Amino acid sequence: MSIHVPLSAVCSPASKTAVPAGRPGPLPARLVDGLGRTIDSLRISVTDRCNLRCVYCMPEDAHFMPRRELLTYEEITRFVRIVVPLGIRKLRLTGGEPTVRRDLPELVRQLAGVSGIDDLAMTTNGIFLKEMARPLREAGLQRLNISLDTLVREKFFEVCRRDALDKVLAGIQEAEAAGFSPLKINAVAIRGFTDDEILDFAVLARHQAYQVRFIEFMPLDANNAWERQKVLPGREIIERIHARYPLEPVQNSRKEPATLYRFQDGVGGDIGIIPSVTEPFCEYCNRIRITSDGKLRTCLFSVRETDIRGLLRGGAAEEAIAATVAEAVRTKEPGHRINHPDFVKPARLMHSIGG
Ligand code: SAM
Ligand code: SF4
Repeated sequence: MSIHVPLSAVCSPASKTAVPAGRPGPLPARLVDGLGRTIDSLRISVTDRCNLRCVYCMPEDAHFMPRRELLTYEEITRFVRIVVPLGIRKLRLTGGEPTVRRDLPELVRQLAGVSGIDDLAMTTNGIFLKEMARPLREAGLQRLNISLDTLVREKFFEVCRRDALDKVLAGIQEAEAAGFSPLKINAVAIRGFTDDEILDFAVLARHQAYQVRFIEFMPLDANNAWERQKVLPGREIIERIHARYPLEPVQNSRKEPATLYRFQDGVGGDIGIIPSVTEPFCEYCNRIRITSDGKLRTCLFSVRETDIRGLLRGGAAEEAIAATVAEAVRTKEPGHRINHPDFVKPARLMHSIGG
């Protein structure tokens, strides 16, 4: 299916008057890229700041954007209202650490009030969930993914550079008590770090009925620590768990990046792998992202961005902004090229893209 936006309806950031107010050009009812992929999912980074310093994501001495550069909650909500008529149905808040942005439940409340959104989720490191899980739930947040790379305190400090494992575990408990179920736990899988805890994570999934998902380490880190040998392949993780606790595949919707397995004996939750490096799933990609400073990215690994904040603050008509989004999607990257010799790492680090 090809895109329905005539080029005349497409407005570049510099030509925001190309679609005159009151005479909108035709816009697509859904976002489809040049390869026929339908985009219905938007990841919204609300900050590049964080209370951890995970080695695979940001440097210890990270520099953060001035607050005036961040989209306000009203600007984020306005943008969401503009893309819902284009077929966006799923939102995920991320960062940086979304819970460090002041009064986050207010943003959730605004987004939950946008009609047409079916799924409102957030990815968090969990540190502030003890205090925030309930307010977020009451504001309308539907689902939570919590990042947890290790169950060992010293290893947590090694990878996140902060001594906060207890806070994350308390946050996970509170999230469950607040009604976020089933919880998804995300662990970045790093060779030489994760290997000796694979079975412990499997036991966690069995005892707590969480969906435990292993994300392959991707080259988006600050310190250029990524090496192919440090990627612990998802397939290997599944084999290791299967040998101890037999697994069987769950019928996957290709709309989720995780390949899911359940325990054959019916105990507990699921195990997922997100094999972004060894088995890329770009051909099924259904998402776009907006950074906290309002740049639209059509791939996690994009080397180009589209300035939405300039349009929002420059008084552009909604139709013009929608047309800009549609044009960016039309030329969405076919894939991330991590496994190609010409791979170029994006200039932005993970914490300022929004993972
Ligand atoms: N601060 C929140 C958190 O950690 O959950 C949200 C932002 S974080 C960038 C989103 C997800 O990206 C986390 O699950 C994190 O583990 C993952 N991530 C960060 N850097 C990564 C990398 N280089 N490779 C794979 N996953 C990464
Ligand atoms: Fe912070 Fe999340 Fe990045 Fe860790 S992965 S430094 S918690 S943004």
